[in-house]
Amino acid sequence: MLILIFLIAGLIVGSFLNVLVYRIHTAEELIFDRSKCPHCKKQIRWYDNIPVVSFVILKFRCRDCQKKISWQYPIVEIFTGVIFALVGWKFFVLIDTASWFPTAYYLFMASSLITILVYDFLYLEIPGSVLWVSIFLAVIFGLYLDGTSLLKLENNTVNLLDTITYPGILSATTAFVFFFSLSFFSKEKWMGMGDAYLVILLGLILGWPEILLALFLAFFLGAVYGIIMLAMKKKKMKSQVPFAPFLVLGTLIALLFYLPIINWYFSLFITY
Ligand SMILES: [Zn+2]
Repeated sequence: MLILIFLIAGLIVGSFLNVLVYRIHTAEELIFDRSKCPHCKKQIRWYDNIPVVSFVILKFRCRDCQKKISWQYPIVEIFTGVIFALVGWKFFVLIDTASWFPTAYYLFMASSLITILVYDFLYLEIPGSVLWVSIFLAVIFGLYLDGTSLLKLENNTVNLLDTITYPGILSATTAFVFFFSLSFFSKEKWMGMGDAYLVILLGLILGWPEILLALFLAFFLGAVYGIIMLAMKKKKMKSQVPFAPFLVLGTLIALLFYLPIINWYFSLFITY
């Protein structure tokens, strides 16, 4: 039941993220203006703005000009809904009020990451405003939680790896140095500088060593995607492929399924 609420909240947020991506790109007013059809510029009626449902009822077309609505809209809505449901399942416990704040934090970060994924996919660019605001909030969140848990400690022995800020900064720095070098030495041919800034955020969200799994998954998914595209002859060897979507997917998987994946991986080496 709770998961269903997270799912529906995610569908609604996903519909907002679609608008956000479009408006960052066209630099329009963010929230206060009502949504318009990108073709005929007519305002979208409130009853045509229900995530996924409206899309199906309208048969994927604008009510006014009958032009096709992009598949991007329902896909992003459903994806955000599923991610919200998973974050709720993983972090939220109704009777444990201490879980509410981290849940809200991870929902916010998931929304930022999805925005970055879609934006980079469409425009081959990472929206700096979203990225830097999220990095700032990730640091504040870590410091705040560490601050409150330090107050509860009776003896003064702190294991740095048990904090949130220290492993976050460790993994952000490691990932940044690695991606910055890739980008710098290849003159941005292998990796864009935007990706190097993005992994700072991913490191802060995931901490250490979860970031390693996220980066591994990103390269793995990127390679699979590249092979499929080459096989389908959709892309040439040299055509530019955005990498942020794979970094974001790797991060979301690592955030939600780190332990099961690691346990499965090590179970492969156990011989009976
Ligand atoms: Zn229209």
